[in-house]
Amino acid sequence: MTEHVLRGAIFDVDGVLVDSPHEHAWRESLRELMLGDWAPIRDRSTWSEDAFTPAVYQEVMSGRPRFEGAGAALRYFGLPDDDEHLHTYADRKQDLLIRLIDEGRFRAFPDALRFVLALRAAGVPIAAASSSKNAFRFLRAVRMDVFARNEGLDTASVAEGSTLSDMFDADLSGRDFARGKPDPEIFLTAAAELDASAEDCVVVEDAVSGIEAAVAGGMLSIGIARADDERGLAEAGADLVVTSLDQVDVDRLVRGEPVLRRPESDLA
Ligand SMILES: [Mg+2]
Repeated sequence: MTEHVLRGAIFDVDGVLVDSPHEHAWRESLRELMLGDWAPIRDRSTWSEDAFTPAVYQEVMSGRPRFEGAGAALRYFGLPDDDEHLHTYADRKQDLLIRLIDEGRFRAFPDALRFVLALRAAGVPIAAASSSKNAFRFLRAVRMDVFARNEGLDTASVAEGSTLSDMFDADLSGRDFARGKPDPEIFLTAAAELDASAEDCVVVEDAVSGIEAAVAGGMLSIGIARADDERGLAEAGADLVVTSLDQVDVDRLVRGEPVLRRPESDLA
């Protein structure tokens, strides 16, 4: 039997590595518009403060590039999606997002940082592949040396002052592709840049469109359900769905088997 070896791990950023303020920025900037400049068109839409739920964000906008996401939201709420409305909403959201990042109003998920360090320790090349042009801002803002020290981890491979951005062998985030997820182009390009064939890579995603992209690309996929959406990720075809990346058996993943870690009680 030939042993299968994982040659690359490709990470989405928002919702996987960091709990980004995208959702907040999309919701809050639309609210400002609807209560302000767009008040005259409000009654003709289905928008209300309560209608923009986390589920709407996950289904309609999560994982989409900025203008696509803005257009999808405007159509969802029955608002005009012409150029002017599209740009106004997308720009307003971007300004708010930068402010939230600058103010440090986001956090990295500790399970994701442990997972990245474990893959690096196992020698698996890793890539970041977010549709967001802002992903690098998050990656550069997370200090890995501080995290490793606080976790009591072996810090030999984490240089003083290094950030999450330094952990990646390739970063395709925000690069322009002809089609966004669920098209696999961004992931296939990431695999190529890691010098790996698609079937030897695993994609880690929190969005249904991202899992669909991984499946379309012929890659293994792990769905991380941080918002009670295990079912959607499983139905999209994820090989493994977890609520924390700590649940993944990294030793077996490195051998191309995306499976859960055995519970501690089994090991006793
Ligand atoms: Mg995501």
